Amino acid sequence: MAGISLRKLRKTFGAITVVHDIDLEIDDKEFIILVGPSGCGKSTTLRMIAGLEEVTGGDLVIGDTIVNDVPSKDRDIAMVFQNYALYPHMTVYKNMAFGLELRRSPRDVIDRKVNEAAEILDIRHLLNRKPKALSGGQRQRVALGRAMVRSPEVFLLDEPLSNLDAKLRTTMRAEITKLHRKLDATFIYVTHDQVEAMTMADRIVVMKDGHIQQVDTPQVLYDRPANMFVAGFIGAPQ
Ligand code: ADP
Ligand code: MG
Repeated sequence: MAGISLRKLRKTFGAITVVHDIDLEIDDKEFIILVGPSGCGKSTTLRMIAGLEEVTGGDLVIGDTIVNDVPSKDRDIAMVFQNYALYPHMTVYKNMAFGLELRRSPRDVIDRKVNEAAEILDIRHLLNRKPKALSGGQRQRVALGRAMVRSPEVFLLDEPLSNLDAKLRTTMRAEITKLHRKLDATFIYVTHDQVEAMTMADRIVVMKDGHIQQVDTPQVLYDRPANMFVAGFIGAPQ
């Protein structure tokens, strides 16, 4: 079980506070989306959950453990980035297998996990290719596959679709929603795209300047925005 609690979570860089004591309860298996303008602290929040950024204040709780001091590699979490960060010299298979190889998983387990993920993502025919021979959408699938092979309870996705063209973005939105149902994991997804948030999320967290403005379902956010900022942000064209 991997519900996540942010309790007065704070991040400062030098003298500047970029995440201001935020409180948030994320349910196990929820698809939660953090939205807000560029620079409002979305990625920093996600990176603290991933353990890629130290917590300055407050507590971060995963399941029933305070993980402030737990190293990233010991958290049951996988992260997918906007730029995919695939290893260019490795095949798709190797890109997906590499994390498990580092953890010294048995060869047959690695093989099964990679093939299962590739099947779900419809990239089995690409396993022997190198990233440079793939389209943007295919690279995105590989990045998802690389996260999936570890079967984490929590997926963190930071603007995973922002490098794709509009048409592919629409397709991938639906794919990621399907994937969330299939994987039965908690998804925490960052975007600055309100349409993405409104169509994919169980609940949306609207952030501004390191503060949370509102946490609600898309419907409630649309019907009853808490303030002018939320109303403007949700209503604004893409
Ligand atoms: P978002 O993902 O919402 O666009 P970020 O979390 O990346 O925002 O950044 C929030 C703020 O923190 C920005 O003002 C950014 O410049 C600042 N910031 C992020 N990382 C660092 C860092 N390593 N050092 C200093 N400032 C940073
Ligand atoms: Mg960001």
